[in-house]
Amino acid sequence: MPHPRSAPRGLFAMLAASALAVAAGAVTLTVATPPVAAAACNGYVALTYDDGPNSGTTTALLNALRSAGARATFFNVGQRVQQNAALTRAQQQAGMWIGNHSWTHPHMTQLSTAQMTSEISQTQQAIQQATGSAPRLFRPPYGETNATLRSVQAQFGLTEVLWSVDSQDWNGASTAAIVQAANSLQDGGVILMHDGYQTTINAVPQIVSNLANRNLCPGMISPTTGRAVAPDGTNPPTNPPTNPPTNPPTNPPTQGPGGCTATVSLNSWNGGFVATVRVTAGSSGTNGWSVRLTLPSGATITNSWNSQRSGTSGAVTFTNVSFNGRIAAGQSVEFGFQGTGSGSGMTPTCTAS
Ligand code: ZN
Repeated sequence: MPHPRSAPRGLFAMLAASALAVAAGAVTLTVATPPVAAAACNGYVALTYDDGPNSGTTTALLNALRSAGARATFFNVGQRVQQNAALTRAQQQAGMWIGNHSWTHPHMTQLSTAQMTSEISQTQQAIQQATGSAPRLFRPPYGETNATLRSVQAQFGLTEVLWSVDSQDWNGASTAAIVQAANSLQDGGVILMHDGYQTTINAVPQIVSNLANRNLCPGMISPTTGRAVAPDGTNPPTNPPTNPPTNPPTNPPTQGPGGCTATVSLNSWNGGFVATVRVTAGSSGTNGWSVRLTLPSGATITNSWNSQRSGTSGAVTFTNVSFNGRIAAGQSVEFGFQGTGSGSGMTPTCTAS
């Protein structure tokens, strides 16, 4: 069956035990020279590896990918990121993309909204702490999802990613069977694999070679569509840094009379909340924006996304990040934050630049 809804529960417990047994330490990554460039890319597919990082396999998997000149997406389990921060950084430094795969790998659809929020939020925070940036992609464990979970994902700006091909590596598939599964990938497709099996590591060279023979290249997963697309070059070190703009902006910063407005919507529970703030540009649009609000007494921010934040309590200022500063006239963007205590009664003021 191509889309099983339940991977073995015992597997995760076994991997968790092995991960717990080894403390995180320095990671040395062997950097191999990629092979001669493959033929033209007529399409892109995403190689994905779930359930890491693992002290026993992640380094070998990264080496196999680097040797094959391939980049992949790692859907990490948050508590393993916390235990293996150095391996998480090694993923990033090897040019891999990192997604959120929950904190404890539960059956998410059996959780309350607050528990779902906690699973996602803690993992966003751990990956942010390890790598400097929070994921934009979320894969629910076992591929189990529902409308409530999707609404929680949306509050974190996460795109849900399932898969188009299941390698069955979690179900004991041989290396040859994993390679065979990858042969059915089509342009835009995503294959489910796991960080934790030698069979999966051994499949990497043949998978990449077979893709090249079909003029398919390993790509990234678009946070817009959840499908595989060409790498956007934002992840070092595979691509050179982008050049700074050679011309100054043609328009000076404007702050029209309307500037911008901000509204807060709250999802609260006993002892905590998630706030989603919508920033809407006035008649001049924005080149950047900041939103200032005051948290109620006793409330503390524990996590935020899609903005830069000045503090955790009292008066806090949120400033746009690179991808959401420019808003066309009348259009909106959203950012959010999670906190403890009550979030009621926050009144934001927005300043455009
Ligand atoms: Zn998983």
